[in-house]
Amino acid sequence: MSLAAMTSPLCIAGVYSQANRKQNQSHNINAKKKKISEKIQIVNGSSSIGFKGKKEDPIWKCVAGCGSCCKLDKGPSFATPEEIFQDQSDIELYKTLIGPDGWCKHYEKTTRTCTIYEERPYFCRVEPEVFEDLYGISEKRFNRDACSSCRDTIKSVYGAQSEELQRFNDAIRNSSISK
Ligand code: SF4
Ligand code: SF4
Repeated sequence: MSLAAMTSPLCIAGVYSQANRKQNQSHNINAKKKKISEKIQIVNGSSSIGFKGKKEDPIWKCVAGCGSCCKLDKGPSFATPEEIFQDQSDIELYKTLIGPDGWCKHYEKTTRTCTIYEERPYFCRVEPEVFEDLYGISEKRFNRDACSSCRDTIKSVYGAQSEELQRFNDAIRNSSISK
């Protein structure tokens, strides 16, 4: 969704209780994160931008007029709330956001924006800390994995040939850093 309405149950957790969260994380939680991270990579297929063979580091950015990640019920290819969250309250919060059509109740389709943007849940933020906390994805991998997650999300919502995907790829291509 537009940066103004940037969302993202691509992402999750960060703003709140990270300290408590980290204290509570145990070995089996790390194993769970690893599993989720692997699942993300499998879903993504290749995490490489791969612009015609050029070596480039993508710089993630949200694009206006997308909003794909506000479709919270994304289907079986995506990690479930139970797989992502450690806290039952997070699972419940996530589920309460899902409207009957699978989109977030706070998503305004006509403008493709979040109506509670400033107060959106922590898991609606695409940030390195969130990816680390929820998916076990290091900051070093953040841009690449966030870009891949966006692509998969956009494809699942609008299609592989969609204008939205084209615009996202164009935006990332323009923001990438050549090595
Ligand atoms: S899928 Fe990516 S580009 Fe689209 S709204 Fe979500 S964060 Fe932004
Ligand atoms: S609260 Fe809903 S509409 Fe807002 S960013 Fe999160 S998923 Fe999207």
